[in-house]
Amino acid sequence: MSTTWHILGAGSLGTLWATRLARAGVPVRLILRDEARLASYQAAKGLTLVEQGAEHTYPVIGETPDSPEPIHRLLVACKAYDAQDAVAQLQHRLTPDAELILLQNGLGSQDAVAAQLPQARCIFASSTEGAFRDGDWRVVFAGHGYTWLGDASHPTPPLWLEDLHAAGIPHDWSTDILTRLWRKLALNCAINPLTVLYQCRNGELQAHHCEVATLCAELGELLECCGQPAAAQGLQHEVERVIHATAANYSSMFQDVAAGRRTEISYLLGYACQAATRHQLSLPHLQQLQVRLVEQLLARGLPRD
Ligand code: NAP
Repeated sequence: MSTTWHILGAGSLGTLWATRLARAGVPVRLILRDEARLASYQAAKGLTLVEQGAEHTYPVIGETPDSPEPIHRLLVACKAYDAQDAVAQLQHRLTPDAELILLQNGLGSQDAVAAQLPQARCIFASSTEGAFRDGDWRVVFAGHGYTWLGDASHPTPPLWLEDLHAAGIPHDWSTDILTRLWRKLALNCAINPLTVLYQCRNGELQAHHCEVATLCAELGELLECCGQPAAAQGLQHEVERVIHATAANYSSMFQDVAAGRRTEISYLLGYACQAATRHQLSLPHLQQLQVRLVEQLLARGLPRD
């Protein structure tokens, strides 16, 4: 019997992983916030995955953080701002050889979780898969993509990548996961905040070409300074390519703000600005972008972090 995957967070990505693992016969358990969420989940009789118009419900077992079973493998599928507290609630259940897979976007939350659990192996992930909830306990698989997993301190891939293979979760083991996460963060910083400020789709940023180019230059400087020169290579070109390729889309930050949801700004633009300050690097446009974005969030009654 293979090791059980405990999945923390039954949101978009947590459900996308839980349903595909369960479908492949891999043992999965879902950890929900509390008894009320567990009761709601049990009434729904499982997690529903909607894929290419077809839907299927998987009766994955649910539990609360108080459940007594030890946890050997934990997929952390919360938002970056919830990850540390959500993992802390489970600390007493983690075995000494526990492995955590951290799906959070941006940077900062992974190190915070790893520092909290010095004994555990923390594997960082960067995913281009896309999913959204169209109801409680229901997720629509909106964009096929890829997930890179890596461990900055141990280059050896874990054996359980077999489970992902069996589940049809496209993935690769990455020996430069930090470079991938920094690159994604830089792309996000160059695109997402501007889409909120100009209230536009990604493609409309083509009209703000100079501003995008200035931000890319500053982000490139930051990446070099943070020891990530590979993440800086051809950044502006890739940002322009993404803006073009996703012209009709609204960025995830735009969607969060439009829906009145908290953003992950502290782990994206906020993290970049903090890193610049730590390196005593002056990046006036990036810092001004953060000020403008925070103003916009506060004006909409959303948290500034
Ligand atoms: P989401 O849909 O908001 O799901 C997060 C889930 O975490 C929610 O179900 C929430 O529970 C749960 N949660 C929070 N604190 C918890 C706790 N203490 N105990 C148990 N559950 C808890 O978020 P998401 O879109 O899946 O995003 C997760 C991460 O993946 C983010 O960092 C995001 O940027 C990244 N990501 C997402 C996508 C995507 O397409 N969605 C793609 C790439 C990367 P409730 O339901 O009770 O609120």
